[in-house]
Order: sequence, then C-alpha cells, then structure tokens
Amino acid sequence: MESGGDGDWQVRHIPGAQATKVYRCPGCDHEIQPGTPHVVAWPAQDYGSVEQRRHWHPNCWKSRARRPPGRW
Ligand SMILES: [Zn+2]
Repeated sequence: MESGGDGDWQVRHIPGAQATKVYRCPGCDHEIQPGTPHVVAWPAQDYGSVEQRRHWHPNCWKSRARRPPGRW
C-alpha cells in the first residue's frame, strides 16, 4: 500500500514474465508491451474491483504526484 496526495493505493509490481498482455499506461497514454515489468495500482478502498486497476510504467507511476488530480 502506498499513500500519496491522490489517496491510498494498492500497488503491485508485475515482473516481465507475468506481463502477457498489452496495457495502456494512464500516465503517458502509451502502451506497455508484453514482457515489460510494470506497476499495477488501484484505489485502496476499491480492492477487488478489477475495473479500477491501472497498469503503469514504473516511471510514470512514480511521477504521477506531479500530475493534477482528476486529469487521468
Ligand atoms: Zn507510461
């Protein structure tokens, strides 16, 4: 669990071997290719809600605090 200016998040680091699909990163709006280690995050209060999960590039996740809230 991580806390930030945008609330509490459950965060999971996905190794490349488990990344089997293409995802779109909400931080940069580019695709995360299969085999790329990345980060999955979802709001802590919505645990179990798969639709809320977002896949991020690690760098985009780390820099999200610089983005204004509500701009995703
Ligand atoms: Zn990204």
